Amino acid sequence: MSARKIPHILKLSAQEQKEFVNSFDVVMCDCDGVMWMIAAPLAGSGEAVNALKADGKQVLFVTNNSMRSDDEYVKLFGGIGVKDFQTNDIIHPIKSMLYYIKKHNIKEPVFSLCSPPSTRMLRKVGVDVRTLDTTEEITPNNLGRITEPEARMGAVLYDIKLDLTYPQIAAATRYLADKDCQFIAGGTDWLLPMTKDLTVPGFCDILDTLKRFTGREPIIISKPAVLLGEILKDIYKLADPKRCLFVGDSLTHDVRFGLNCGYQTLLVLSGSTPIEEMWQAKAEDQPHFYADSMADFIELYANISKSA
Ligand SMILES: [Mg+2]
Repeated sequence: MSARKIPHILKLSAQEQKEFVNSFDVVMCDCDGVMWMIAAPLAGSGEAVNALKADGKQVLFVTNNSMRSDDEYVKLFGGIGVKDFQTNDIIHPIKSMLYYIKKHNIKEPVFSLCSPPSTRMLRKVGVDVRTLDTTEEITPNNLGRITEPEARMGAVLYDIKLDLTYPQIAAATRYLADKDCQFIAGGTDWLLPMTKDLTVPGFCDILDTLKRFTGREPIIISKPAVLLGEILKDIYKLADPKRCLFVGDSLTHDVRFGLNCGYQTLLVLSGSTPIEEMWQAKAEDQPHFYADSMADFIELYANISKSA
């Protein structure tokens, strides 16, 4: 059982609710399981974001899902009614990889095990991205030729890629045999909650396969890695981590990330974590607050304005 009581934001007194919203200036929201399910909507999330913005909060989105292009995110946020959404308001592993590539001045081509929109996004901003696409039937006789390194790579980029193939994995191991080729990874989630009724495996086990086989440790630039916190701090000029609230549906990725970075944390129960899991977690892994969903912010602000 939990060593401490975690308050539900709607069970706080009106005074405590006021103190809660006054305790942060920046709200960072995970997307899948918080703003929507990967392939289904979640009621009230857009309105909740607008309520936070109307209260002067800077609302940012921090997702481990790079499978959508900026245009798709603009459409999605527009579709749930979020006002004034800018593509710079969202960060996902591909943007963090780009930040890392620039910061570390990686000039050689990079080999991408990332989704097609991610690869397109990197190419659009001038990164020389190589991929292995083959329609040939793979046999023991042609695997060696097909996965032959085509050039020296500055990095292998690994992320969620729903059309990942065995030759691509094998080719990546050959590039990673060069110790100067960096290994940069997002996509460490172990499950992908697509809709309320469908969850499929994530990509962390395939990453483990790459790690085990190559003996290489990837540089992780996605939640819950502290490196992502440093990237966010630099990009968004975040002054005081305690004045940031991280909202997510995963204890292992969102709450852990928020705690690692010194943010306040709020777990929403609209995604991958059942309430029992939150209560059963060790005290040091539990969030500061919880809510049923983002929509609870709408009621929270209604309570505050009623009591004013
Ligand atoms: Mg999530």
